[in-house]
Amino acid sequence: MEGRTDFLIVGAGFAGLVVGERLAAAGWKCVVVDRRAHLGGNAHDATDAAGVLIHRYGPHYFRSNSQRIVDYLTRFTGWHPVDYEIKSHAAGRHWSFPINLNTFEEWIGRPSTSEEFEAWLEKERVPIDDPQNSEEVILSQVGRELYEQFFEGYTLKQWKRHPRDLDPSVCGRIPIRTNRDNRYLRETFQALPDRGYTAMFERMLDAAPGLKLHLGVDFEEAKRRWDHRHLVFTGPIDEFYGRRFGALPYRSLRFEPESFTREQLIPREPVSGKPGFWQPAMQVNYPEAEIPFTRIVEIKHATGQRIDATTIVREFPKDWRPGDEPYYPVPAPDATESYRRYADLATREEHVSFIGRLATYRYYNMDQVTGMALAEADRLLARYGKGPQSST
Ligand code: FAD
Ligand code: UDP
Repeated sequence: MEGRTDFLIVGAGFAGLVVGERLAAAGWKCVVVDRRAHLGGNAHDATDAAGVLIHRYGPHYFRSNSQRIVDYLTRFTGWHPVDYEIKSHAAGRHWSFPINLNTFEEWIGRPSTSEEFEAWLEKERVPIDDPQNSEEVILSQVGRELYEQFFEGYTLKQWKRHPRDLDPSVCGRIPIRTNRDNRYLRETFQALPDRGYTAMFERMLDAAPGLKLHLGVDFEEAKRRWDHRHLVFTGPIDEFYGRRFGALPYRSLRFEPESFTREQLIPREPVSGKPGFWQPAMQVNYPEAEIPFTRIVEIKHATGQRIDATTIVREFPKDWRPGDEPYYPVPAPDATESYRRYADLATREEHVSFIGRLATYRYYNMDQVTGMALAEADRLLARYGKGPQSST
């Protein structure tokens, strides 16, 4: 045994670092480990060989409706406000997306009004009062034609499941509007950490000297190295229990980055519409089945980084197998049912907390995970009180 710590935290993503920072600030000794070689979990960002700041595991658009969560993170970062705008590419052209009045005008090929679009939707919508799955949620809002073009193929590629076999919340994440608001997200606060996520997490660690980070260390090794009074686990819950009820389903991804110099970008200018960029928006979705990737992300549009080069990243969905990164829990009734058996075991643990996207098997955004970690820190502090290192 290398030593003793009060809290052992497995996973240095949003969940692990936020709970660790709070506990350390209250005077407890915390060790946080991650089997990856970097902090930040899936929100990790880094400068690539072309000098471009990229989001290593897919685009991470911070957004929140919670002032408490934003205020908490603001202790560690400034913000770069972004109106996250994307496009969808289908039938050989770019479309405004999420569906709004601009998309409708592109669809009918002439100028229109919100009133005309609403009347059109009234006729197209499939009357479903209480949508039970992702197909119904979109059909009930926009009808079959727009559903088939923008949602069906994309969802099949991303999840390898039909939208009717996924919870309504999956496609229901995407707003549908009859005005000209092109923003992809609904939340009131939309911004990126001004120096990136990794820099924000580094400041979190600096602020909490009682929180020690060990990278390249997995849970099995950590258990042998640090005796602890309480464990906070943010990895996959089925893995924690040795997959004794079978592996939970996940979707994985393969990321394919490609960088371009200023000279290489010149011929792309008619497509991107501005010098220094490869495509017209930070993200272009490809819903068509023949194209093997779901989206191309050019995060420089969102970060506002001033650099001549650019990097795009194509995202290819793939089946998850042990050893792959479990990027997405599957939001569907059968998967939730399988998770429940593990969740039952978790409720019987006295000295283990399960938080975060993988340990609670929830398709949560970063702000929701931050909220969950803050709440867990409050619960633990109510139970254990302040730590011996506490200054107050
Ligand atoms: P993670 O970030 O997954 O961190 C868990 C960490 O635990 C990992 O680093 C892992 O290596 C480590 N770990 C697991 N098991 C072990 C073990 N046994 N031993 C040691 N270490 C272990 N959210 C948004 O708000 N906006 C977005 O735009 C957005 N886009 C996304 C795009 C993609 C492609 C993905 C996959 C997710 C996206 N998210 C987005 C969700 C966001 O990534 C999560 O909400 C957030 O990162 C979850 O934090 P976490 O700490 O729960 O998990
Ligand atoms: N979706 C779709 N077409 C799109 C974009 C999204 O059908 O052009 C569906 C798809 O099922 C996707 C879900 O809506 O998984 C949520 O999309 P989002 O972009 O929020 O996914 P994430 O960024 O979490 O992968």
